[in-house]
Amino acid sequence: MIRTVTGDIEPDQLGVTYSHEHLVATPPPWMAAKDPDLVILDLDAAIEEARMFRDAGGRSMFEASAWDYGRDPHALAAIAAATGVQIIATAGFNKGLWFEGRAGDWPIERYEELMVTEVVEGIDGSAVRGGVVKFGSGYNSISAAEERVIRAAARAHRRTGAPLHGHTEAGTMALEQIAILREEGVDLRRVAIAHLTRNVDPWYHRQVADTGVYLCFDQLSKVRYGPESGRIDALIALIEAGHVDQLLVGGDLARRSDLYAYERGPGLRYVLETWIPRLRAELRERGSDEDRVERIVQALLVENPRRYFDFTEPYPCR
Ligand SMILES: [Zn+2]
Repeated sequence: MIRTVTGDIEPDQLGVTYSHEHLVATPPPWMAAKDPDLVILDLDAAIEEARMFRDAGGRSMFEASAWDYGRDPHALAAIAAATGVQIIATAGFNKGLWFEGRAGDWPIERYEELMVTEVVEGIDGSAVRGGVVKFGSGYNSISAAEERVIRAAARAHRRTGAPLHGHTEAGTMALEQIAILREEGVDLRRVAIAHLTRNVDPWYHRQVADTGVYLCFDQLSKVRYGPESGRIDALIALIEAGHVDQLLVGGDLARRSDLYAYERGPGLRYVLETWIPRLRAELRERGSDEDRVERIVQALLVENPRRYFDFTEPYPCR
């Protein structure tokens, strides 16, 4: 069962999926004032992006905006209703920089109870439920509050069966996040680590993949973080190392300048219309036949999301 904002669906209904996006989001007010490019609160623009995604062949997406990043369950339900795109919403938190001002002193149990409520009952008192439990850390560090959130997320995951999603800052601290999850008894095959494409380091990626987690290849189109070739090479290196079943893709487009509906940026059609054709071409150039190219694309867009976003039976401690 996969939990979307408009209800639970069977994994076979998920279809072509982006595994880390933002439709309606904003950082806290102090950051929004400093960097207004990060404020994407226009519902009509979000609907336009979701329509372009659907018209490019998209069916579903994980909307990764958390408690501390302007998440709006009513807007997500409205976008799903207007476009037919199946949206998976986020329970939990992003990173300390965003949540510590309002919730930095909470004990583990309070984070955990909020996350469980968001998955089981609804987000912010709505009937819209979270389909993923999120946590995160900062650049090259995990604060004490972030560690409590990671432990809380692990426990909320074990109580609900919802998959886990980790924000890494610039692709750092993935192995440290995983070590905490392991201490909490998490089945690492139920975890995705995001933003490792900000740290294009094939050896490091292999260490992460060897733990069994999914690696979310997001930031696609963001040349400001390095050319597309680096992300493509790193993805193909993981495929050649036998990790094709652990890869997810998305754009993580969270700036007005990233989105077509605001500023004619690449937008939510980019991965399907531009990036996947390039990946196909590069796989062919490196000797893959059509069958293999197709199997890889299906794994990234359909098969892996179908497995990753599916809830498992709860396995609470005690
Ligand atoms: Zn994101």
